[in-house]
Amino acid sequence: MSLDGPEKEFHDQVRRYPTRKGSYNEVMRSIDLLHRAGIFNGIICGVSSVNHEFPEKLFNFFLAENIKKLKFARVKSIGHCENVSSLVISPAQYTNFMIAIFDLWLKLDDPEVEIRDIQSVVSLILGGNKRECIYMGQCDQFVTVYSDGLIYGCDSFPKTDDLCFGSVFDEPTAVRSNSRLQTFRELLEKRKEFCHTCNWYFICKGGCAKDCYEQFNSVEPLSEVCKNLQRYFEHISAKIRLYDLIEPRTVHSSAKGGEDRV
Ligand code: SF4
Ligand code: SF4
Repeated sequence: MSLDGPEKEFHDQVRRYPTRKGSYNEVMRSIDLLHRAGIFNGIICGVSSVNHEFPEKLFNFFLAENIKKLKFARVKSIGHCENVSSLVISPAQYTNFMIAIFDLWLKLDDPEVEIRDIQSVVSLILGGNKRECIYMGQCDQFVTVYSDGLIYGCDSFPKTDDLCFGSVFDEPTAVRSNSRLQTFRELLEKRKEFCHTCNWYFICKGGCAKDCYEQFNSVEPLSEVCKNLQRYFEHISAKIRLYDLIEPRTVHSSAKGGEDRV
């Protein structure tokens, strides 16, 4: 379910029907039905120019509605949705929002509250596993199948020929060996080489193949994105270290297989 916060202030400004009517009431009714059926699995909240300055208000709203599984996603331009451009926020604005959410989550100290991105980062810092594609470094493993059966790369990318890997009507082996998919894989590997000196590679692994790079063929990540990712990881790592949970000799691997201290 997509829910961007309280009704008038946030959600209904962004999530409207073609008639311009807000969808808040229907979304909340659906969440209630899912809760009652025991199959509610949390919400995705778009973080945009409308709500990014109000992390505490959003956090408290979700908890008051008994919504404890949360995922936040930055509203960004993906090239073919011009009508969202006024909602787009910068990596710095999103990082400020997520750092505030992390601090609220830590202070609340309720293990039932799960924030997917934060859980992945904390888990990776503590030597565990990730749950988010953005920390897997395997963007070639995520595809979008369109209604005509064509298979493209992850839907964060616009639907371009560069990322058309075949069709559901092709043999699976033909899709796996598709030359565009191979080219995409080679690009991802080149990008990882670029990251080998970054202390946060063990979490980030080259980052989101769409968000961290200016163009599809870029190898070098955008410095603005990296600066903010690193600021986010540093903030969480510093707070986690205060709990004395990380072994002094905890190490992580860089892109070239070297070892660095957390
Ligand atoms: S923060 Fe930037 S340099 Fe570091 S691993 Fe991520 S994309 Fe690479
Ligand atoms: S491009 Fe970004 S959103 Fe898509 S699979 Fe890769 S990390 Fe995930």
